[in-house]
Amino acid sequence: MGETDLYPCVPLEMSADRLDDLVDKAKTYALMHGICMRRKDAFDTDALHFAPFVLFPSPFPRKEFNKAIEIQTILNELMHKVAHDDDFLRESLKNTIQVDDFTGRLFQLYDKVQKHGGSAQELSLGMLRSDLMLDNHCCPIDSKCKLNGQAFCCWKQVELNTIASGFGWLGPASGLLHRYVVQEAGYPEHLKNIPENNALSGLANALVNSWKLYNQPKSVILFLVEDVTYNICDQKFHEFEIREQCPEVFVIRKTLTEIGNRGKLTEDKRLIIDGHEVAVIYMRCGYHPDQYPSEVEWDARFMMEMSLAIKSPSVHYHLAGTKKVQQELAKPGVLEKFLGDKAKIESVRDIFTGLYSLDKDEIGNASFQRAIETPEKFVLKPQREGGGNNVYGADIKPFLEKIADSDERSAYILMDMIEPPITTNYMVRPGEAPLLAKCISELGIFGYVIGTKDSILENKQVGHMLRTKLSHVNEGGVAAGLGALDSVYLVDASRCCLN
Ligand code: ADP
Ligand code: MG
Repeated sequence: MGETDLYPCVPLEMSADRLDDLVDKAKTYALMHGICMRRKDAFDTDALHFAPFVLFPSPFPRKEFNKAIEIQTILNELMHKVAHDDDFLRESLKNTIQVDDFTGRLFQLYDKVQKHGGSAQELSLGMLRSDLMLDNHCCPIDSKCKLNGQAFCCWKQVELNTIASGFGWLGPASGLLHRYVVQEAGYPEHLKNIPENNALSGLANALVNSWKLYNQPKSVILFLVEDVTYNICDQKFHEFEIREQCPEVFVIRKTLTEIGNRGKLTEDKRLIIDGHEVAVIYMRCGYHPDQYPSEVEWDARFMMEMSLAIKSPSVHYHLAGTKKVQQELAKPGVLEKFLGDKAKIESVRDIFTGLYSLDKDEIGNASFQRAIETPEKFVLKPQREGGGNNVYGADIKPFLEKIADSDERSAYILMDMIEPPITTNYMVRPGEAPLLAKCISELGIFGYVIGTKDSILENKQVGHMLRTKLSHVNEGGVAAGLGALDSVYLVDASRCCLN
């Protein structure tokens, strides 16, 4: 297989029979425990495929994992404050909204809500997922993991999601799958290194607690969904968990189009759809321009925003999650505005990798030039979510040259390319033979925060998810068909590196 930066947690060389047996057991476990997705090849609401997964959990340095868990409540606090800082959002996004239509529309919506007196609901529910990767660049020169066996990489934030942050079920479920697989493979002693993961109960709890705050016995929790949901198990298990936690509440699923066509606001701004009063809106849709095919969907979003329902997210939270805001937060002196405590500020600054504006000004021009000269060091990002939108490496130069003289530059941000350590694993996909491959992983930490502009009522870290992709592929969304489910296998420095 050649060079690997982190040891796999079990030896991967095994007979074909043994591999077949383990893969078969793993697939069966996945199918029978709802670790599944709808088929993309042949749509069939009566059948599911197992979601792609890697056979064994991936090594992740324990110290770095704990750091990621610990920092989450600080990130929650930061994002809550950013979302409620009108001046900051306005200033950060002022150029971007001129040239990026979708962010522009979201901003118009934000303005329109304010012009109409603001939302009837002061509380917001932020259900966040901070995505990160280990970064070899963190290792001091000449002491990369594989060289001295002691130093190992720290991690950098890829992005922070404030809308439709998925895998609250498939994240913990992958840990369950891997617990089963390492036992079947004969390594029960490995169980202690697969950390517990309560993301699903934590996120469901966020929705139930918000419903209780709304305090209207007959009201429902609304899942805002796509016309067709491929990542159906992930959503449905949230629903099942809510049913377990709170027998009194019902969940309904609606699209933006349905809300636009059939939703109504009462005089006191209660949102009613098909006879249900909506207490909480959990958006698993609404983050992509394609999900607003007409004005009906924008009208629906406006109605939701104005209503008394508690939104996850409210439009200001949605805007706070844009890549442009992430880049603005990384500028010197900005975190200080939001986090008083010096230690907190330092800890957050430490997880940012280089983030640069490409605006047509002195600073933007310098970044623009660097990207043209050394494109392999960067990722170019538009203001989009859901994967498949970024520009990488050699593609950056021609892309930027085309927009060199245009204000369109402000629609993008530039980010240092993170270079995660390489691991080896078997990737298992429906209908395909298992593939022994070099992989890289991205960890997501879930958190939620409930509060108003002036106060935070709840702020929690609730769990994690890991996804893994082939090392030479730029993007690895599992729902998008590129990545695979994975879970964390905690390792200490001396075990984590090849000598
Ligand atoms: P999206 O909102 O579409 O998920 P992301 O910023 O998460 O956008 O980028 C999508 C994917 O691209 C990530 O999951 C990661 O695999 C890869 N990626 C993004 N930023 C970087 C980076 N700075 N270095 C390396 N890979 C990156
Ligand atoms: Mg992402």
